[in-house]
Amino acid sequence: MREYKKEETKASEHIICNGCGKVIAVKHGMPMEGVLRVRQVWEYMSGKDGQVDSFDLCEECYDRMTKQFRIPPATSEVIEFV
Ligand SMILES: [Zn+2]
Repeated sequence: MREYKKEETKASEHIICNGCGKVIAVKHGMPMEGVLRVRQVWEYMSGKDGQVDSFDLCEECYDRMTKQFRIPPATSEVIEFV
């Protein structure tokens, strides 16, 4: 969940974790902690046709959620280009 200070800037001041309510600071458009950002567009074959859901989770809530998975998420390293 993102809250904006000024409507015209559209630069979020902070992010609130939907899982636990933790406030995560955002500086220069960058979250200061790990955040999972989800935006899901439900399509025709789902029971939520046309619905768009979005939420943010802090790293702790992400870890708690993925620990419940029967199959853990795939992981790999980002290759950074300088
Ligand atoms: Zn959280």
